[in-house]
Amino acid sequence: MIEIDGAQGEGGGQVLRIALSLALVTGQTFRIENIRANRSRPGLMRQHATAVEAACAIGGSECEELAVGASALTFVPGAVRGGDYHISVGTAGSTGLVLQTILPPLMLAAGPSRLVLEGGTHNIYAPPFDFLERVFLPIVNRMGPTVSARLIRHGFYPAGGGRIEVDIQPTASLTPLNLIDRGDLVSVEARALVAALPGDIAVRELAAVGAVLGWPEEARRITQLPERSGPGNIVMLEAVFDEVTELVSGFGKLGVAAHIVGDTAAKRMAGYLASGAVAGPFLADQLLLPLALAGSGQFTTVKPSLHSRTAAEVIARFLDVRITFQEQENGNHLVTVARA
Ligand code: ATP
Repeated sequence: MIEIDGAQGEGGGQVLRIALSLALVTGQTFRIENIRANRSRPGLMRQHATAVEAACAIGGSECEELAVGASALTFVPGAVRGGDYHISVGTAGSTGLVLQTILPPLMLAAGPSRLVLEGGTHNIYAPPFDFLERVFLPIVNRMGPTVSARLIRHGFYPAGGGRIEVDIQPTASLTPLNLIDRGDLVSVEARALVAALPGDIAVRELAAVGAVLGWPEEARRITQLPERSGPGNIVMLEAVFDEVTELVSGFGKLGVAAHIVGDTAAKRMAGYLASGAVAGPFLADQLLLPLALAGSGQFTTVKPSLHSRTAAEVIARFLDVRITFQEQENGNHLVTVARA
């Protein structure tokens, strides 16, 4: 049995999610203690408990001690079965993070799957649906499976109520990828979404984005969502390159002025654009698992986050791979995944 310390590195939910994914793929049992020890409210929150339940459902697994607030659990994986699964977080917790947990095993399963996931779709500290659809899945699809995702209903914190659907055509094995150059910039777009909030928020966010990035009027889009999806607000900045798309998000929050939300997101995008790296900080930590399952691969990224370094450590507990982060002269990092 693999023993995982949930307090290691970043000490958040990602340690648990990666362990669940890899337990299902490799058939190895693990015990995790100190779950999310570095978070202000440690232990399993509803969203993490749902990820464990989802992992149990797709893997016919046994889950002991599964309760919101639990700080330890043992996960004994069974055989992963593709199929139709309807999983509801029950709060505004992120559907994207539940998908992050069960996608790796399902894209390597014997048969296809169709998922309906309900909860939050645009959560702070989680990949927004658009990031999954536009940034993460296109790269995963280059590795063999065909995964398509549809946003049926937006879900914001605190109301939730969002719904996404995901179709997965699995692959027998994943193809390694080398993503060293992102190629030329093809297009840019700044989108601001508001639900049950004044549309003026979106206008001010996009004006701030325009001031930092100089993106033209035609590249700005405002979407006013139905009242029942709200309250909610997000600004998403997308840059499409030949080899990769990056999507930077800014989340509207009570007490934070709209122009600050736009300005902060725009400066993050400016940093990414100036770096020349393929992967931004979030894509970097999310790419490690598929590349490790492929057995090898490389990509360039901005300064690796503690999330990425922690993900690399947890992955190495389950798979015979070595993940290295090598700083380059221009300040970017080359991430290499190789068999140990
Ligand atoms: P928790 O313990 O609350 O679950 P965590 O440390 O697991 O926290 P986060 O730091 O929120 O969770 O990161 C979870 C995942 O969400 C990471 O894989 C990260 O790449 C991704 N993520 C977070 N914010 C964004 C974003 N704005 N865009 C894309 N992905 C994001």
